[in-house]
Amino acid sequence: AEHYGIPTISTGDIFRANIKNKTELGKKVLEYTSQGFLVPDELTNEIVRDRLAQDDAKNGWILDGYPRNVAQLDEILEGLGEQLDAVVALTAPTNVLLERMAKRAKEEGRADDTPEAIQNRLNTYDKETTPVLDIYQQRGKLVTVNGVGEIDAISEEIVKALDAKLG
Ligand code: AMP
Repeated sequence: AEHYGIPTISTGDIFRANIKNKTELGKKVLEYTSQGFLVPDELTNEIVRDRLAQDDAKNGWILDGYPRNVAQLDEILEGLGEQLDAVVALTAPTNVLLERMAKRAKEEGRADDTPEAIQNRLNTYDKETTPVLDIYQQRGKLVTVNGVGEIDAISEEIVKALDAKLG
């Protein structure tokens, strides 16, 4: 986001902020996020639609953690009339993901970093999010970057891969 001068819009961050501030939305989504299940599409799509309509999103944006299933993909490409330039998939083996989440559970105390919620999230990713990647692969939009290593080096790889893709 810093490199391209556009905002990052993270649905997970938006949900966590609402939970923290005990908003109506926060109360509605907690039962899903805390267990590691996806929040219903109607709620998720609405917050993305509102956020993309804000001024700072006029010249582009990075969506982090959205779309996470095929229905959201349809919403963003067709419903919103937006065309994505590229989709970045960061890959890491499951054991690395488990280690990172265990570390994050200690450091941040995220409500959904319990063993049960982690398992649900990994299952949900396989079942619901992987088909999204397949579709973007077929459409020639997918950029896959190795997500294991130092953050700076991975960031550089992402920018390099995106620049190559966007031309
Ligand atoms: P994240 O920080 O992206 O891992 O998101 C944390 C949690 O927020 C997820 O486990 C879901 O419960 C919810 N969430 C985030 N993004 C989405 C999305 N696009 N669709 C449905 N639920 C989402």
